[in-house]
Amino acid sequence: MAFNTGIESFLKIKGYSIARSESGKKVIEFEKDPIANDFWDYMSAHSSIRTVFNAFIKSRELESHNSLERLSKFLEEAETSFVFGAYCKNTNKPCQIILDRPNLLESNFKLPIKHRTTCPTCKFRNTFSKEDYKPIFKLEFRDIVKFFLKGCKKNVFRIAYSVSCYFCNKDAPFDEKIPTIKRCSKCKNISYLSTQFILNPEIENLIKDTHGYWLEWFVWKLTKGRLKSEIGLLIEKENKKIECDIVLWNGKLIVIECKDTTDESFISKLTSLNKFADYFVLVSTVKLRKDTLETARDILKQKFIYVKPSDIHNSVNIILGISKKS
Ligand SMILES: [Zn+2]
Ligand SMILES: [Zn+2]
Repeated sequence: MAFNTGIESFLKIKGYSIARSESGKKVIEFEKDPIANDFWDYMSAHSSIRTVFNAFIKSRELESHNSLERLSKFLEEAETSFVFGAYCKNTNKPCQIILDRPNLLESNFKLPIKHRTTCPTCKFRNTFSKEDYKPIFKLEFRDIVKFFLKGCKKNVFRIAYSVSCYFCNKDAPFDEKIPTIKRCSKCKNISYLSTQFILNPEIENLIKDTHGYWLEWFVWKLTKGRLKSEIGLLIEKENKKIECDIVLWNGKLIVIECKDTTDESFISKLTSLNKFADYFVLVSTVKLRKDTLETARDILKQKFIYVKPSDIHNSVNIILGISKKS
């Protein structure tokens, strides 16, 4: 894939040579696969989907108590959820009971317009409108199942059943011909039947080794239609190499760094970036430490823009805002 000529010539005039990074090649390859469209439909539907997906690829399961705890932290940081709750509105006797708890995966992310219900505790007659619903960050496994099933419809996940023996730890795929009670073929104890959600192999390839390439891909897709952009560039001058996740061109050279971990190594390349970029945009799915952000701001001054976890879907507008300002 040829480079965007505007970006390429701008960098060449400044004495830089450019090449495509491994992550860039991988993302471009992924984008050619038909699954990229389905994955885009799934991931762009709502920020809560992206947050839960991210938690899933980090712990590789969402069933256990620990991973649900971790997920609630992620959702809270990103200020998003697909489960909402409306509490009893009796002001005389606050009973703090959730009377309606919709899962928005079942309603195409729409909150109920009007919902009437009488509180079983205080008998107060509630009428809830959209504004009364607050996001719930502590999800239950039944909520997560709906997340997976929605992904199965888009081929992001597939279902695999397996039988496990907890006496001798033998796992085997589930054969539908066997009777309801399945005994371990080895030790004859009763086996436990489980459901697993397995990622599409192309998506697996994009996210394996915990690289946040899905985020680069996602932000690149967000920007692509609206600005001239490049993915995964290796920029070199005087033997100094800098890797840029995404570079945008709108008369201004805007470098976007996508972060999916708390790793702070990007700080080391900011001084070099400061020399040729007009702006540096940091898009992060995790909340970064305050002093890290302050260090970045010290180096780049007004060139530094931070897109926090809850604003990712809005990245392009934030970027367009900065290029209008100047
Ligand atoms: Zn009540
Ligand atoms: Zn066994």
